[in-house]
Amino acid sequence: MKQPNYYAAGGLDRVGHLRKDSDWLAARLADGASRFVPVWRAQNLVRDTEDGPAPLLIDRAQAESLLAGGPETVLLGLEAETALFALDLSTLEAPLDSLALDAARHKFLDLRAFGPLLGRRDGSLLAYAKAMMHWHSRHRFCGVCGSPTVAAEAGHVRHCTNAACKTTHFPRTDPAVIMLVSDGDKCLLGRQAVWPAGMYSTLAGFVEPGESLEEAVAREVFEEAGIEVDCVTYHSSQPWPFPASIMLGFHATAKTREIRIDAHELQDANWYSRDWLLSHEDGADFRMPRKDSIARRLIEDWLKQG
Ligand SMILES: [Zn+2]
Repeated sequence: MKQPNYYAAGGLDRVGHLRKDSDWLAARLADGASRFVPVWRAQNLVRDTEDGPAPLLIDRAQAESLLAGGPETVLLGLEAETALFALDLSTLEAPLDSLALDAARHKFLDLRAFGPLLGRRDGSLLAYAKAMMHWHSRHRFCGVCGSPTVAAEAGHVRHCTNAACKTTHFPRTDPAVIMLVSDGDKCLLGRQAVWPAGMYSTLAGFVEPGESLEEAVAREVFEEAGIEVDCVTYHSSQPWPFPASIMLGFHATAKTREIRIDAHELQDANWYSRDWLLSHEDGADFRMPRKDSIARRLIEDWLKQG
């Protein structure tokens, strides 16, 4: 099996079969050995270390007073025998004070800013907690009837409270395709105007209802760059909680060469040869996508095929 992508394969046992066991769940919530992954307004709690930010999980005693307020909690799973919960602190104005943490050495940070610095387990755990709390924050009301919803099954479903509706809502993750398009020893990379200066990456876009993944790949490449593709082959996938995607990675072969960019989507796109990419260092004019991204992985795996 290929090396999993970043933010995946954190090693947790998600124990889906125990989410409906309210006695087991109550015992884990009360268990002094359980650990909590705080999330505050889409940010994760870290402490400063010599090696950069590291996740800070809090124990049952630290969480005690916060749990009394009935915050959203989600059972993430078991790590060995230890239950790990995500804990939403978004209603607090000063969460570090509430946790009695020194603001000089602790902070809530956007995972985008420090994810690449984390080990695999830590990155995966924080991404999972962040993604679940994002879903809860966006589904407080029923999309069918507009009534409030309440969480159930250890935070993995929300039920509509309207007795005439009772719709059950499940966590969402939005599929997006991301593809490295090649033509012989050249590949197609583009950049959006909002990206960091000089960064070029693979093309990507959301899957639309009623199309296959292969069709989504072909449509996005044609819409954004005017290139027709075939031989769309699956590579690997990556949870991407920015805010709620699963990236589905593909390689595809170009049938046409002439680039016509959609200026609403891309600022620039070009063909890059394998030799040029292998010899070019990241700089102001060109740099590769971030190391934790599946885009980087798709490019690097293609470069190795040469
Ligand atoms: Zn409803």
